[in-house]
Amino acid sequence: MQSISEKTNKITLEKEYGSFIDGEFVKSSNGFIDAINPANGELLAKISRGNKEDVDLAVKAANVAFQTWSALSIEERASYLHKVADALEENTDRLSMIECLDTGRPVYEFGLDYDIAVKQFRYFASAILLDEGTSRALPDGQLIVQKDPLGVCAQIIPWNVPMIMVSFKLAPALAAGNTIVMKPAEDASLSTLEFAKILKDILPKGVVNFVTGYGIEAGDALINHPDIHKLSFTGSVGVGRLVGKTAGERLLPVTLELGGKSPHIVFPDVNIDDAVENTTLGYCLFNGQSCILGSRLFVHDDIYDEFVAKLVARAKDVKVGDPLDPSTRVSALINEKQGKRVLSYIDIAKEESAKLLAGGNRVTVHNHEYGYFIEPTIFEATNDMRISQEEIFGPVITVMRWNDIDAVTKEANDTEYGLAAGIMTNDFKAALSTAQKLQAGSVWINQYFNFQTGAPFGGYKNSGIGREYGKEALDEYTQVKTIAANFNLPPA
Ligand code: NAD
Repeated sequence: MQSISEKTNKITLEKEYGSFIDGEFVKSSNGFIDAINPANGELLAKISRGNKEDVDLAVKAANVAFQTWSALSIEERASYLHKVADALEENTDRLSMIECLDTGRPVYEFGLDYDIAVKQFRYFASAILLDEGTSRALPDGQLIVQKDPLGVCAQIIPWNVPMIMVSFKLAPALAAGNTIVMKPAEDASLSTLEFAKILKDILPKGVVNFVTGYGIEAGDALINHPDIHKLSFTGSVGVGRLVGKTAGERLLPVTLELGGKSPHIVFPDVNIDDAVENTTLGYCLFNGQSCILGSRLFVHDDIYDEFVAKLVARAKDVKVGDPLDPSTRVSALINEKQGKRVLSYIDIAKEESAKLLAGGNRVTVHNHEYGYFIEPTIFEATNDMRISQEEIFGPVITVMRWNDIDAVTKEANDTEYGLAAGIMTNDFKAALSTAQKLQAGSVWINQYFNFQTGAPFGGYKNSGIGREYGKEALDEYTQVKTIAANFNLPPA
């Protein structure tokens, strides 16, 4: 097996990356943004600081490419998607290592989300073949209901899991016959740009375009471009509202995948050691920078003291350190802004008199001041505190007691969000009846983060509009046309 250091040594990056437009890498007249390793401050590369001019070029290329891409047979498009999946699979090691460097995520997570991304391309290569539309005979004619692509889709993604985001948005949109202009996050564009090099050899030019840059420049120019036909956004609620408002004003269809503050309910019959281990790995995954994080943990009264004591002991045992060390479970947050945000929530929790049970500190790694490495942090809190209500996006959770299932279900739902929820119990009847009452787009029983291919993903309430990942995503990227045909003109 290849060691981590061998893998890192093989990573070569361009010094400067242009945006990927019409099959070429195009440098912006607007200059560059530094791509920095969040764990040590190293300059990895420079990425294009795209602007309106770059967006114009990309949207133009995507509109031209739409004419031929949308006219392909579904079998041909499916075949392209399989080629993309094959290439992504072959390049998983390299691309996910680039993501570790670019985002600071621990290398032990390596490949986890690439498996999801590869399957996503394969799934939509198959799903499009089954999305036949419908037809029925009329007494003197035929009724046809067909699904047409929308055109050029503007897609904007965040930095936490770049390739999952890329695949969730590209795969269904491409399968349905659309072309794309995507803006990756300014903090994590490198794996997407390296992926673009792979796509260059597979897809016709202009079908997929990536314009890098800041949200207020490239992102704003993209969502306001007159020649786009769909908006799809994953990110914060604040920017989501803005994208939704733009879609409303321009009457464009929109998909929004936004934040979360997900409840995780632990019943008294669980194996406590297993439940503690699962909970810990879950809230540390992606350094806690996950929209689906089970950040509000409700533990039953009967096991509360033992469970929480073990959870706290386990938190203290979690290795916080260099992302390239395979034993590291929590590493550097994406940037200083995010680091300060997480620390400020720790202060807010203390001010609110939440009880700090574990963590709460920034850790120095390798004796240098760079990077926001935050200890896994557990607060005992109440559900109405800000720490329990606002998305923190770091390895910070709150624990709360429960003893009445109706009351805890109500509390679990008492949030503006509704992206995901977890339940741990051996009592399947209790689990399912609770799941039915939870206001969440995904409810996972006995395995948090259980992403099964084809299972629709998206949010209730302020967590978003629309669904990705499952077949429903094809509806997000198509419009329905009804053709009602008579064989003859009705008699005069
Ligand atoms: P963000 O909203 O700040 O940025 C997301 C993207 O939007 C980035 O590419 C950014 O450049 C762009 N953007 C910012 N301002 C813009 C503007 N005015 N116009 C157009 N584009 C703009 O979010 P973030 O900090 O990158 O990511 C964290 C957030 O994303 C969290 O709230 C998290 O919950 C959410 N998230 C949701 C999911 C999901 O599937 N529901 C997945 C991952 C992250």
